[in-house]
Amino acid sequence: MYFKCLLLVVSYFLHVDSVPLKAIQDEPTSNSYRLTKNVGEIKYTLTLTFPEETLTGTGDSFSGTVSISFKVTEDIQELNLHVNTDYIEITSLKFQNYLNFAYTVDDTTNILSLLDLDEIGGIKKGYTYTLIIEYSGKVSTSDAYGIYKRSFKNASNQTEYVIATQFEPYHARRAFPCFDEPSFKGTFDVTFNIPSDLNLNILMNTQVSSTENGVIKFEPTPEMSSYLLAFVISSFTSTSGGNIEGSNIPYNVWSRSGTESHRTYAVEKGPDIFKKLIDYMDYQYSNDMTKMDQVAIPDFSAGAMENWGLIIYSERALLWNSEQSSLQDKQRVATTIAHELAHQWFGNLITCDWWSVTFLNEGFATYFEYFILNEVETAWELDKQFVVSIIQPVMELDSWEYSKALQSETNTQSEISDKFGQISYYKGGSIIRMVSHIMGLSDFKSGIQSYVNSEGLQHSTAIPSQLWTILGEKVDTSYSQLPGTFSEVMQNWIEKPGYPLLTVTLSNNELTVKQQNFHYDNSSNDAKWNVPIFLVDSTTSSNPSTQPNTWLKTSDTDVKIILAENADWVLLNTDQAGYYRVSYDDDLWTKITNALTKDDFGGISALSRSGLVDDLFNLARAKKIPYSTVFSRLDFLKKDVSYYSWVPAFKGFNYINQKVEDGTDLKEALKNHILSLLDALYKDSPLSLSEANSHIKAFTKVLASSWACGLGHEGCLQEANSLFKEYKNNQVIDQDIRSVVFCNALRYSKDSTDYDFMWTAYNNANSANEQSTILTALGCITDKSILKDYLQETIKNTDESRIQYQDVFTVFSAVYSGSLIGVDVALDFFRDNYDAIVEKYTPVNYQSKLLKGIAEKLTTQEQINKLNNIISTHSIYSEELKDAAQEALTSANSNLQWIKEHETDLLNYYGINDDDDGGDNNGGKPNNAVISTINKFILLLTSSILTLQYVI
Ligand SMILES: [Zn+2]
Repeated sequence: MYFKCLLLVVSYFLHVDSVPLKAIQDEPTSNSYRLTKNVGEIKYTLTLTFPEETLTGTGDSFSGTVSISFKVTEDIQELNLHVNTDYIEITSLKFQNYLNFAYTVDDTTNILSLLDLDEIGGIKKGYTYTLIIEYSGKVSTSDAYGIYKRSFKNASNQTEYVIATQFEPYHARRAFPCFDEPSFKGTFDVTFNIPSDLNLNILMNTQVSSTENGVIKFEPTPEMSSYLLAFVISSFTSTSGGNIEGSNIPYNVWSRSGTESHRTYAVEKGPDIFKKLIDYMDYQYSNDMTKMDQVAIPDFSAGAMENWGLIIYSERALLWNSEQSSLQDKQRVATTIAHELAHQWFGNLITCDWWSVTFLNEGFATYFEYFILNEVETAWELDKQFVVSIIQPVMELDSWEYSKALQSETNTQSEISDKFGQISYYKGGSIIRMVSHIMGLSDFKSGIQSYVNSEGLQHSTAIPSQLWTILGEKVDTSYSQLPGTFSEVMQNWIEKPGYPLLTVTLSNNELTVKQQNFHYDNSSNDAKWNVPIFLVDSTTSSNPSTQPNTWLKTSDTDVKIILAENADWVLLNTDQAGYYRVSYDDDLWTKITNALTKDDFGGISALSRSGLVDDLFNLARAKKIPYSTVFSRLDFLKKDVSYYSWVPAFKGFNYINQKVEDGTDLKEALKNHILSLLDALYKDSPLSLSEANSHIKAFTKVLASSWACGLGHEGCLQEANSLFKEYKNNQVIDQDIRSVVFCNALRYSKDSTDYDFMWTAYNNANSANEQSTILTALGCITDKSILKDYLQETIKNTDESRIQYQDVFTVFSAVYSGSLIGVDVALDFFRDNYDAIVEKYTPVNYQSKLLKGIAEKLTTQEQINKLNNIISTHSIYSEELKDAAQEALTSANSNLQWIKEHETDLLNYYGINDDDDGGDNNGGKPNNAVISTINKFILLLTSSILTLQYVI
């Protein structure tokens, strides 16, 4: 802690009006983290002074003065706001005319309370008050929250510094005392004092209004939440993207010098994406703001932050260069830009009322990152990718008992951090996509325009019921057949965790559809949803629609649907338009299987096939059907070369493969099974495919070759090795396959210099994406001591470490996902270096994320015992970390349980005699590689997910 415990006002000014100081003896007892909403019309006038040593040297101090005027909406006896005393030391506090006004600060809740309001007659409704606080502050040189500082090497290899901010969700209070909740909107008038001879740029949300002798004053911001204020002080240079079409809004991309050529994509496509959003929303960005700056920060842990008018990215989320970055990197840059630009409406103009409904910001940003970008990058199939990249991963997460609802009780800082996970982003986006299908895309667009243009919500905040009311006014009930008001229909999708499983049975040409909640552990509750049924059958598949066919209501036990007379097959979740799973009876499955054997899969679309595959594997995972049944229904994959069918297929196989013991006949049978299924896919998209003819084809190539090489496919491995040799001989190899080539070459490498060679390549790479690829590939090495050395880089001093602070997750996940050996190495390393990890990575969410990541990979009792030991030994450090570890233990234990429950079924399916299996573990050396590469693939596949989890 920087400044600890209760603060007392120190006499600073001598003034007769001073309220007498009180000695505060008691620790604060308030359990409340929330402010009472009784102030409005907040105006901040903030002056920040940075000394030269902080801007250009190793210093970390700054000073500030904030004047806050506000009008109260009721008589109040207690005024509270926020300050984080770890970073700010108040030197004087003046309230109205009273200098040295007494106050307390609760270190846990960060709540600053003014005392003695009674003695000055309280605060009266309708009046405006002013609070002036002077303070000294500290910029963070460790984590990237509040005002933080990062060092980097400039083009002349000299160390330079950048000062930047990250205030969401509760870190503005590290920079200045403020009402640090989203619904306390105010205007910000900011002035900076910096030495004028340093030649640095200062960027803020608004434009500079005056500059004189190092005093730089900015235009006031529009009314906005404190978490959206931002600034960057740096030597960065910029490339102009011109003015946004149809406006006078300049669009600039900033980054450190030497990275100019990496700005091209952001400069060219950013304005196009922005224009599409402006047109879609039918609300001009220029109504509130006069410019848009995009800045790339070296070593920034979050993916990006949507500060109004000043979006801050990590370099790998904004900069892209075709020579050093893959198409997957390019897509990540594009989706991140689209995500942050969408926030300018969803979050900045209209803000979630409280973090309990973060999805009103993040769900919309996630939806539009795909569906707006789809209008700019029209060949990328982003509308389809949404299903395998967003919906399917979050449904997996949302299948656990501990999953939280989109709207859930949120008070503590840890609970707030939890709201910035996949549920708010991915489930939020998935539910919004389902709503778009319920309404139809055209009415959905009108509804969104009404929401964005609602004057009551602009420069204010929203709660879900307001969204549903507005969308409800645009819904065509004859189209959507909504079985109630929009608020009623949506209530359980928002307020309940999880989602429904529909079970469908056929009798006398009539379908009966029932629902139950879907959980992997089959724990049941009586949660029900109003479920839109998006039906498609063989008679309509040539002209598919996602108009709801009918609804299964919460009040009904089932719904009956007459099967069309000449329908050869029927599916109830067309293109996975709905956020639910479907289980069909055997008769219906026979019809589906018959269709899938036909040349065009009987007209069943790629996305519907994707949904079928994902549902099958997950039904087996929840023990609702045996894996042998799943496998018998997946035979069509032998001729299916669609990316969308294979993403869930590989995910499902990976889940099994992780749990089957290494070196057994069962493992071998599983490997051969997968190899036989993927043969056509690999032939269609081999590693040697030099020119992929489409974006998705390139993705498919990476997917297919990751698995083929990982399973020991001779041709694939040879190709990987020869490409690695070419790379070592300074020949350029395709960016998209570098991760596959590096990983597989390093895994089988007998050349001890390869590790050092890769570090040299890492140091020479002038691209964060290239560096990230190398860091991930290093985890594929199967030498324990090298892996340990590699992890050691994460806890070295920042000056000595070869990696950046932000890369700790990449390095850890590379190791524990890289091989079975890596899981043990990472677990032991975490245990042996716990103190060093906690000391360097102070935010609890860093620690818990690392521990959860490792724990999810555990499959043996011995590993679980080790984890238990870590938890019990270190519980004193953090209760939050203990909770996170406990959560991870639950999933680790379920891994162990899984094999007990499914082994017999799998052995029978492959015709393996139980007694013959598992006797020769020593003979199974190659299989470590099999598992590790498949895990590696999942890492590759989820790399965008891992990153986006940090996108805020
Ligand atoms: Zn976001």
